Amino acid sequence: MSVKIAVLKETRPHERRVAMVPAVADKLIKLGAQISLQTGAGDAVKLPDSAFKTATFAADPIKLVKDADIVVSVQPPAIEIVRAMRAGAILISFIYAHKEVELTRLLRDRKITCFAMELVPRITRAQAMDALSSQAALSGYYSALLGATSIARILPMMTTAVGSIRPAKALVMGLGVAGLQALATARRLGAMTEGYDVRPETKEQAESLGAKFVDTGVDARGAGGYARELTQEEKDKIASVVTKHIQSADIIITTAAIPGRPSPKLISKLQVDGMKAGSVIIDLAAEGGGNCEYTQPGETVQVGQVTVVGPLNVPSMLGEHASELYAKNQFNLIELFLKDKAIALDWTDEVVAKTALTHAGEIRNEAAAKAVG
Ligand code: NAD
Repeated sequence: MSVKIAVLKETRPHERRVAMVPAVADKLIKLGAQISLQTGAGDAVKLPDSAFKTATFAADPIKLVKDADIVVSVQPPAIEIVRAMRAGAILISFIYAHKEVELTRLLRDRKITCFAMELVPRITRAQAMDALSSQAALSGYYSALLGATSIARILPMMTTAVGSIRPAKALVMGLGVAGLQALATARRLGAMTEGYDVRPETKEQAESLGAKFVDTGVDARGAGGYARELTQEEKDKIASVVTKHIQSADIIITTAAIPGRPSPKLISKLQVDGMKAGSVIIDLAAEGGGNCEYTQPGETVQVGQVTVVGPLNVPSMLGEHASELYAKNQFNLIELFLKDKAIALDWTDEVVAKTALTHAGEIRNEAAAKAVG
């Protein structure tokens, strides 16, 4: 008997990723799994069914999941999919329980063991399973490209027969995983780069990427390596330093986030109104409401002579590599409990215990249990 893994085709608008790639399917089969994919699961990333040599296919997702031991997807699956899963089966996906109250209750009531990818603990041992980081790295890279193609300027210095063009200035606000990739990419494209964050340890990280650190003197380190919310006094102190950097930048990329809170506002309307004509803000925090007061999630808006871009689901725009990294993250998680052709969950393992959203009729994550009620 082998463990049956079912791979769903994503159905949410603009989602191009797929939770399985052929190399990962082969590795899972070596561990004793049997892989079934929903027909056309990889179509959006030009990964045809024929690329999965060792898998079987089913067009109907309900039939696909009915006898599966593990179901994998990128986005939370539809309610009817979870209804069709057998009690005790495992679901691995991004969920974000506070946005998926009905689904989370159903996962609990159907006694599904759900591992929510956003809950993977941020400890060294779990880095290879951390899909938030793998996807954020891609978003950071892409934000610099979006910035470069949204202005009518070049990024590097260029000497021509009619004179020299000065390099563009790129300012990255929020230097987590995405922000550091944005800095590195903008620099590779030839821009002069500046970075800013409220965690002082990011100074050295920014400088190691050839960027100048904008030092505001504010230290807002919170729990678990994340930032905390700022006081009004801290916000004013920061604005007094950061405004002139905002207003001399050609490209601004913002990535700031505080876990469980709406995106902090780092750029006010007033600051945008004083920005250089022709410059752009790429707001990677648009999903959580945005870091700029002018950001419209999912839209590109023109504010005077400044463009404010609020892209959603940026990793999906790089669906091929995003799928590859995501599938590898999931494989590393599955490898923890798929042993000798059987599933054995070790609840003393911190990664297993903390990533579990629901198990055996309970919501195991405290914040999710509170949100779901
Ligand atoms: P994130 O997405 O939560 O936030 C992005 C950045 O925004 C952070 O650097 C944060 O400090 C910054 N920020 C928040 N409020 C701000 C404000 N008002 N002004 C300016 N910046 C602000 O961050 P992330 O990418 O998830 O990374 C957070 C930390 O966790 C990093 O130190 C990262 O290296 C660490 N991490 C560790 C692991 C691991 O050990 N497994 C995995 C991933 C991330």
